[in-house]
Amino acid sequence: AKESGRNTVRFFDPEMHAAVVQRVALEQDLRTALQEGQLRLFYQPQVDAQGRIVGAEALVRWSHPRRGLVSPSAFIPLAEDTGLILPLGQWVLQTACTQLARWATEPGREQLTLAVNISGRQLRQTDFVAQVLQALQQTGAPAHRLKLELTESLLLDDPEDAITKMSALKAHGVGFSLDDFGTGYSSLAYLRQLPLSQLKIDQSFVHNLVTDPRATAIVRTIVTLADSLGLNVIAEGVETQEQREHLARNGCHTCQGYLYGRPGPVEELMR
Ligand code: C2E
Ligand code: CA
Ligand code: CA
Ligand code: CA
Repeated sequence: AKESGRNTVRFFDPEMHAAVVQRVALEQDLRTALQEGQLRLFYQPQVDAQGRIVGAEALVRWSHPRRGLVSPSAFIPLAEDTGLILPLGQWVLQTACTQLARWATEPGREQLTLAVNISGRQLRQTDFVAQVLQALQQTGAPAHRLKLELTESLLLDDPEDAITKMSALKAHGVGFSLDDFGTGYSSLAYLRQLPLSQLKIDQSFVHNLVTDPRATAIVRTIVTLADSLGLNVIAEGVETQEQREHLARNGCHTCQGYLYGRPGPVEELMR
C-alpha cells in the first residue's frame, strides 16, 4: 500500500502531469501538421570565397495555425522520440528534391547544391537508401547536387550500417557532410572510413573565433584534417565580416550564416 501510495503521489505531480499533457498535445498537433501540410522548408544560402551562392541548406519550419512559425528545435526532438521523424523526414526529402529538380532546369541555378538534415532514426531504417533514391527518381533531382548532413553521434550508433548505406548512396553521386563537426569524438582513423564529402565546422567555434585562440586552433586543425582527407570544408553560423575574414585566413572559404542570409522561403534565397 505504501509503495502504490508513493507511486500515486508521483503520478499526480501536477507539474509532471502538465508536461505530459503538453507533450501529448504537441504530438497530436504535429501529426495534424503532417497531414494538413503545415510544414515548410526554408533555405539558407551557402557561399564561396567570392560571395557567390553555391547552394543552400534546407531547414524545416512548422507554420502552426495558432503558434505561428515554430522552430525545429521545438519539435524535432519530439518527432524523433515518437517516430514522427520518419514521415517528416520523408516529406523533407521529397520537398527538397522537388526544389533541387527545379533548380536543375533554371538557367544559372543548375549548379546549386542542396543540403538536407538526416536524423539517426531515418538513417537506421532498413530501406533508407531506397527512400532517397526514390525521392531522386520521382522528382528528377540530380543526385550529385544532393548533400545529406549527418552528425557524428548519429554515425557512432552503428558505424558499419551507416557506412554501408552511405557508400550505396555515394555510388549514385549523393554527397555527405558531417554536421556540427568538432563537437563530437571522431578519431582520424574513424573519419577515414566514412564516405564523406564535407566537414561542417560547428558554429560554436565560429562564434568564438575572434576572441578565443583555442577556437582558431580548432578551426585550423579541422581545415588541415579536411585537406588531408580530401574533403571540402564549410563553416556555419558566420555572422560578421570579421569572422568571415578570420575563417578565410585559416583556409575555410565556404560559409553559411546570417552574414549572407537567414533561412527563408526559396524566393528570398534568389534575391
Ligand atoms: P543545424 O543543422 O545545425 O542547423 C543550423 C542552425 O543554425 C539552424 O537553426 C539555422 O537557422 C541556424 N543558423 C544559421 N546561420 C546562423 C547564424 O549565423 N547564427 C546563428 N546563431 N544561427 C544560425 P534551425 O533552423 O532552428 O534548426 C535547428 C536544428 O534543427 C538544425 O541544426 C537541425 O539539427 C534540426 N533540423 C532543421 N531542419 C531539419 C530537418 O529537416 N530534419 C532534421 N532531421 N533536422 C532538422
Ligand atoms: Ca545541418
Ligand atoms: Ca550544424
Ligand atoms: Ca546542430
